[in-house]
This record gives sequence, C-alpha cells and structure tokens, in this order.
Amino acid sequence: MEILQNMDNILKAGLEQIEATKTVEELQDVRRELTGKKSPLSEVSKSMGSLDAEARKQVGMKISEIKTTFETKLNEKEAALIASKSVLDEPLDLTLPGTKINGGALHPITQMCYDLNDAFASLGFEVYSEDDISSEKYAFDNLNFAADHPARQSMDTYWIEGTEDKAGTERLCLRPHLTGGSVRYLLKHGAPARFVYPGRVYRNETTDARHERAFFQYEALIVDKNISFSSGMVMIQTILEKVFGRKINVRMREGFFPFTEPGYEIDMECLVCGGKGCKVCNHNGWIEVMPGGVIHPNVLKSANLDPNKWTGFYINIGLDRLVMMRYGVDDVRLFHSGDLRFLNQFK
Ligand SMILES: [Zn+2]
Repeated sequence: MEILQNMDNILKAGLEQIEATKTVEELQDVRRELTGKKSPLSEVSKSMGSLDAEARKQVGMKISEIKTTFETKLNEKEAALIASKSVLDEPLDLTLPGTKINGGALHPITQMCYDLNDAFASLGFEVYSEDDISSEKYAFDNLNFAADHPARQSMDTYWIEGTEDKAGTERLCLRPHLTGGSVRYLLKHGAPARFVYPGRVYRNETTDARHERAFFQYEALIVDKNISFSSGMVMIQTILEKVFGRKINVRMREGFFPFTEPGYEIDMECLVCGGKGCKVCNHNGWIEVMPGGVIHPNVLKSANLDPNKWTGFYINIGLDRLVMMRYGVDDVRLFHSGDLRFLNQFK
C-alpha cells in the first residue's frame, strides 16, 4: 500500500531530523514539526477518509506507533542534550587553581572522648550514656549526699522550673555530675561491671579560665569482688599513658566525695607549664584532673548490691582539662567559644 510506504518514509526522515538536532531550542522546533497539527502525520490522518475500513484500521495503528516512537526519541534526545550541556562549553583552563575541599573535623573534646573510649574499651569497659536531665534521687540521694549538702542548693545546681519544691525522682535538675549514671547502670546490669559514661554536666557557677557552667566529664567505674586501691591506680596510669603517649607524673591526695570512701584527688603534672606554674595550674605545677576513689557502701546499697560482697573504684576525668593539657591551651572557655579561628587549629 502506497500510504504505508509513505509513512515509513515519514518515520525515517523524522528520526534523522531528531538525530541531527544540536540544541534543546532546535529540538523544540523539530518536536513541533513532527507532532504538531501541520506535521506529515496529521496530513496522513486527514486523508484517511478515502480508505476502506480495513485499511483505515491499519493506517491508524501505524500512525500511533510512529507517534510513540517520535515521543520516545524526542525525550531521549532532549535528556542527552541537557546532559551534554556542561561546563565544558567553556574552554577548559588547566592552569586555574583547584577548588579547596573544606572538610570538617571533630571538636578536640569529642576527639579526646573517643580516644578515651578506645583506651577503656581495650581494658574491657562498656560505653554507657544517659540523659542530661537527672533527678535529686539519682544526682544526690543515691550517692550518699547529706540532706543538707550545699551542692543540692540552687546556687550550685540548676533545678528545673516547676519541680523545685518536689523531692526524689520528682525533683529534676541538669545533671551536676555524671555519677548518678553509675547507680542507674548497676541497677540495670548488676555486678560485676566495668563501664564508662562520658557526657556534659552543668554547674551554676561563675566562669573563669578553669571553670565553665557546662563542661564535659568522663567517668569510669569498675565494680567487682576484689577491687583494690592499686587496681584503680593502674587504671589511671594506663589511661593517661594511652592518651598522652608517654608516662605522665601523677600524685594522689586525700579527697572527700560523698560517694567514695576513701576518696582521692588525682593530680597530674601540669603539661602547659611543665610543672613550673601557670594560670591553668594555679601556679603550683599540678592540675587536678581526676577525683576518684573507692565506691561508698551506701552507693552500693542504692544499687541493690551487698557492700560486704562487692567493691569498686571510680575515676572522674575532667575532659576539658585533659584536652587543655593535651594541647597546652590555658583557657577552657576557648573550647566552648565556637570560634573557628581557634578550633581550626585542631583539624
Ligand atoms: Zn601550669
């Protein structure tokens, strides 16, 4: 049939036209020519009236087949033209300087926290975390703080508005230390246990070169049947050596914390001044980095553990101060300033 032959020619010519197109704008014209009202295909359908029923059916099918083919090819060509329209339209100048890739980095306190996690994990400790909001029960009652202990006052601790005149688990606060988490962990997992629980703590105090209202602590607790003072000491030395990569001078003084008996203040030689004295170490060459001590029997009882059977050793690392020591920075506030001129040095 002549008309069908004619249509094959329309198809062939159309496809060649699409293929030869160079721009998206040109392609829009081609689309109009091939599928619009004045296209060769529309001319064919207008002439269909003179055909018999069978031929009309055949031609109709062929028309719609060709239309579909044109649509598909037009869309493919359009996608290809858009994809090829790249920066390479401009001549490529290989002498231009490259674009600097700006990578982020961990905050030095986060980095220190991760390093400690690794060091403790190698000693078999689990990493545990809990919420920043605690209660009087977990922050004080469980930890053997006396009912009139000054830390319970609002001049030291941030109490949550609306709960101030309640007590126990009903009286909420921003955790003033991490130690509350130790009883929570022990109640859940029992003993023996060895775990660390890093996090941010909050104190209502005046800020200076060594103090911030919110700062990071890193606490570790080991509970077992025969934990001695010397196992605590070994733990401290191992950790400091892993963090600083060399032997660090430490000393222990008697310290008093409600949740320990006995308690210790663990000092390390000030690495900012090398022990000569500076404003970080309060001009005495040593810096208090870790209170610690043997867990108090009353705390074990709060955790439903028998003090005649179990004992344990806490250490509480002042993360900010340890970072100050690592980098020899003498003002803790810089680490919380969000000042990239300062922070970029640690990338
Ligand atoms: Zn110093």
